Amino acid sequence: MSLNSEQKHAIELALRQRRAAVLDELRSETHAEDGTMRLPTHRGEADDDVTSATDAVDMAQTLRDASELERIDAALARLPSAQFGVCVDCREDIGVERLQAEPTAVRCTACQIRYEKSHAPV
Ligand SMILES: [Zn+2]
Repeated sequence: MSLNSEQKHAIELALRQRRAAVLDELRSETHAEDGTMRLPTHRGEADDDVTSATDAVDMAQTLRDASELERIDAALARLPSAQFGVCVDCREDIGVERLQAEPTAVRCTACQIRYEKSHAPV
């Protein structure tokens, strides 16, 4: 673990800011006024083509935001532990610069490239 407490603090701030931004987006996308997350589950109600297409785009965006929120929460949960900043694949330090650029990263650059190659969208 190569992060000092100042660096950890900066990363925590960045994660919390990003989390708030994603929550805002989710809230406006799902129109939930009480702040709870409401993923669109009502399918087949709108027969109108335009509405369905818009729904699909909203849905995809909402799912992207929801999965980003999960990664942010996971990173925040890892932050106080020795697991944070350690590559899940090779157990080496991910590197401060990479973490500052991408605080939710769970792999070092080399493992991330390998992972993306082996999980490339077909
Ligand atoms: Zn690695």
